[in-house]
Parts: sequence; C-alpha cells; structure tokens
Amino acid sequence: MTMADWDAAEVRFNVSQLLREPVGSVRRYEISVPRLELDHDLTMTDLRGTAKLLRTGRGILITGNLEGDVPLECSRCLEEYTTHLNFELEEEFLQTVNVISGEDMEIAEADSDMLTIDANHTLDLTDVIRESALLALPMQPLCRPDCAGLCPQCGTNLNIEQCHCQPENLDARWVKLGELLKDNDLGERSGA
Ligand SMILES: [Zn+2]
Ligand SMILES: [Zn+2]
Repeated sequence: MTMADWDAAEVRFNVSQLLREPVGSVRRYEISVPRLELDHDLTMTDLRGTAKLLRTGRGILITGNLEGDVPLECSRCLEEYTTHLNFELEEEFLQTVNVISGEDMEIAEADSDMLTIDANHTLDLTDVIRESALLALPMQPLCRPDCAGLCPQCGTNLNIEQCHCQPENLDARWVKLGELLKDNDLGERSGA
C-alpha cells in the first residue's frame, strides 16, 4: 500500500447505513487528508473541508467544499510556487446493490457512465476530488499577479534581478538591418 493509497482511504465512506435510511437523510463528514495525488506528478497537500452525503431515490448525492495546497509552475517565470485552491464537489453516486437483500440493482442504459457505490457499499470520493481540483486549477498559473517573468533574451528572472539587455537587441535581424543602414544614405541621414 503506497502513501497515496493510504491517504485516499480517508475519502472512502461506508454508506450501508445511510442507504437504509429514507430519501433526504444526510451525513456530514469532515475531510482532512495530508496528501492526495491529483495526477502523476501533482500532489495536493493539506486537503480539508466538509462533504455532505444526501440519500436520494437512486443513490447518494455528494456536495462539498474543500481546499488544499497545490504546487504549480508559474507560466511567466517558470518558478514553482504553491497555490491555495478552493473547490466544490457535486456528484451523484448510484446505488448498485440493494443494501437489504444484497441483490444487484439494474442500472439504466442512460446512467451507465455515472459513478457508483460499490458492492461493499463504499463510496469513493477520490476521483471526484481529483477531477474537481484539477478543473479549479488556473489555466495560466502566476506566482503573483504582477510576476515580471523572464527576460526573453537572457532568461534572467526579472522578479529577482534586472539584466542589462537593451530593448533594441530584441531581435538580431534588426541589429543586422541597423548595420546595413549605416552603410547607405538613409543610415547617414537618420544619424546612425
Ligand atoms: Zn512568476
Ligand atoms: Zn536579459
């Protein structure tokens, strides 16, 4: 069992009791998970929040408010920083087994891609949390709103220090053109 698996156990709930209760019954859980893998090389830390489990006619509706820390790479300066992410959960899990008789329940064709509660009456929030967190990530991560980024010429991180690159050196082709102009009348007239 890896570290990630162990932590994911914190977001699996046995709902056999809730499934025996009438529609509208509610359970609330505090979620507190030190680490949860969101993707191959992306791990959320200090995941916290609440999840509400509501018994529906065909399963359990999850809603929740969660937050956690995710390391990201700034899209301007390429430095790694940690962002604090707030995100919500909302997903219905279908019941697949009758909790009293133990018999399999039929799932309608139209519902075949819905999340399900497994035969042991375990409801696993791991994938819902992963997807919701990934969707909440910024499209263009910034270490801070006014990140100065990298110098396009020398690569210096302009948040840390200034380089001595000149704006006119931006493109070597313009330098070449400037040299050519020096050699002709146009160049002399412009004082180059
Ligand atoms: Zn940055
Ligand atoms: Zn530079």
